[in-house]
Amino acid sequence: MNTMMAARTPARSRNSQLDEDGIAQHIASTETIDNLVADGYLVRHDGRLIARQLRAPQLRQALTHSVCHTARPDVDDFYQADGEPDADWSRRRAGTARSHCSVCPVRAACAELALRDSDTDGIRGGLAPEKLRTRLLAEAPELTRARAQDQRAAQEQQARIAASAEIQLLARQYLGGSIPEKTREKNRQAIGEAVHRRDELVAAHRLAAGWTQAA
Ligand code: SF4
Repeated sequence: MNTMMAARTPARSRNSQLDEDGIAQHIASTETIDNLVADGYLVRHDGRLIARQLRAPQLRQALTHSVCHTARPDVDDFYQADGEPDADWSRRRAGTARSHCSVCPVRAACAELALRDSDTDGIRGGLAPEKLRTRLLAEAPELTRARAQDQRAAQEQQARIAASAEIQLLARQYLGGSIPEKTREKNRQAIGEAVHRRDELVAAHRLAAGWTQAA
């Protein structure tokens, strides 16, 4: 399935990069995470572009399909041991990447999340720590943007949670048996407005969090 950007070449133009990002954005915003995983969108180079469009909670959701989550390999396989000679670690990490990461369906999501978290101490997404650090530097502007979007989505989520709590509070006030009719009428209107506000915040959060129509 991962063929929509297969024509990418080292000498590609800025326009073609924009096209690729646009295609990746479209796919990320219209497919559910489960579909992205099932269709192999989060594996290779194309996956890297799509993973960049996803919010951190979506990346974490994708990782529930990972080899690390489902097969639970030994965590030590992914880290250089204290005092371990570089040559031994190099051999060991190649084996880890081959045995686990090369068959993992969400390699791109794994690497993207590690980069967003600046988590570069071990193997992530099949990449050695040195490669992760290189990408961390090379992709700093994109990662800064992605982190800002993650933060915005988290704020939108807090706002919608607060709006839902406000509705519950107003509903309790409205339902109280001793509330005079005049106050009840005011509360009824306030509840309607709060529901409307909550619905707007839900829509804003869905957009910021990258929820698709199907999600
Ligand atoms: S890509 Fe490698 S490190 Fe990441 S979840 Fe998969 S197996 Fe684990």
